[in-house]
Amino acid sequence: MINSSLKQLGEMLQAKTISSVELTQSFLDRIKQYNPSINAYIALNEAETLAQAKAADARLANGSAAPLTGIPIAQKDIFCAKGWTTTCGSKMLANFVAPYDAHVISQFDAAGAVNLGKTNMDEFAMGSSNETSYFGGVKNPWDFDRVPGGSSGGSAAAVAARLCAAATGTDTGGSIRQPASLCGFTGLKPTYGVVSRYGMIAFASSLDQAGPMAKSAEDCALMMNVMAGFDERDSTSLNREKEDYTRDLNKPLQGLRIGLPKEFFADGLDANVGKVIETAIAEYKKLGAELVDISLPNTGLSIPVYYVLAPAEASSNLSRYDGVRYGHRAESYTDLMDMYCKSRAEGFGAEVKRRILIGTYVLSAGYYDAYYLKAQQIRRLIAQDFEEAFKHCDVIMGPAAPSTAFKAGEKVDDPVAMYLQDIYTISTNLAGLPGMSVPAGFSNGLPVGLQIIGNYFDEARMLNVAHQYQQVTDWHSRMPEELK
Ligand code: GLN
Repeated sequence: MINSSLKQLGEMLQAKTISSVELTQSFLDRIKQYNPSINAYIALNEAETLAQAKAADARLANGSAAPLTGIPIAQKDIFCAKGWTTTCGSKMLANFVAPYDAHVISQFDAAGAVNLGKTNMDEFAMGSSNETSYFGGVKNPWDFDRVPGGSSGGSAAAVAARLCAAATGTDTGGSIRQPASLCGFTGLKPTYGVVSRYGMIAFASSLDQAGPMAKSAEDCALMMNVMAGFDERDSTSLNREKEDYTRDLNKPLQGLRIGLPKEFFADGLDANVGKVIETAIAEYKKLGAELVDISLPNTGLSIPVYYVLAPAEASSNLSRYDGVRYGHRAESYTDLMDMYCKSRAEGFGAEVKRRILIGTYVLSAGYYDAYYLKAQQIRRLIAQDFEEAFKHCDVIMGPAAPSTAFKAGEKVDDPVAMYLQDIYTISTNLAGLPGMSVPAGFSNGLPVGLQIIGNYFDEARMLNVAHQYQQVTDWHSRMPEELK
């Protein structure tokens, strides 16, 4: 059952071969067994979770069920969920109980899905290994000595270890796709503006986007049907007609043009990861796709540009944590300024402070033109690279991450090495484009993800491209032997 797809679980619930309470309880039991060692969940509320499952069973009984009714979903702890602690992985919010639901949470509620718990993450979603979390690191279910990737590391481990049916994540520079690659599951970052950011704790507002983390492309499509949609409470939410993301899953791939950017297969890519990606692409050729060589010439600038813009936005977004209205407040202080300073000094971890310092610097009067403005200009050039590329291909493929999962502690003291984890994912965030990571095989026993980048609003096609591959391969249904 833990390996069943969302569709299968939905059918079992509808047919009453299992109740939502039973299904939820079996995941809660697995969480009890494995979470103490994996640390994927940082907040559980069994009574509330089971109450939601009971309500779902009532819906299933009275015929008002939707496709995800009764299915237990893990929620990244970046989403405010009424009555739940919502910490964003930070000491600053360790005592914060959200008084309202994020749009994503209320969408799952309305669908009748069950909130299994809140998952661990890098502090304020800043990181690529989950090691910046105030609540400790998360183990990669494939090798407990290794990181699950980040920042959505808890959701990633929960999906990979089958401690949930599916999970949510957010991706500002790669935080859905890089952990999906390192933990061996399917993750999608939608086009910017497709999923409302209301109630999702802000990191870099022009880049942040929520998306599904699940076993398969079909599961991601079902999750997208719940998560996507216009919300007037987010001024960047796009008012588009509701889509059925499953609609194209079964289309054949004959004639699909796959763009292969030469910059994604250059220095810096682990040779074994490269081989796995080439094998996956060969599989697409068998499915009738055509390969096109393309170039994204500004790829090398995406990391420096991101590490100007994201900290700039973060420094502004995080100014709200002043110890006055909510969150951590220092115990002793002399005056108001001292209270601000001590509360922030105590509440934020080292990586968050580094970003606030960089962000404040690049936005300062003397350096704004040299850094912030220049980065905005290059951001436009990066988007233009994709615009040009999509004249010649339908989707772009390459690796999602430059390596497989690395050892815990290996990169924590080297921010630049850590930042390079997102070399293949960040440019899509800068351009606002959708991107996916799909399990494509293993290197030395560790999962490797194939990245699929689509044009704006092409999620249904990307899901189709991933689904067809998952019909002829079984990488996405593999799970760590010891956790079976
Ligand atoms: N690793 C990147 C960072 O630390 C991306 C994080 C994310 O996508 N939330 O900023």
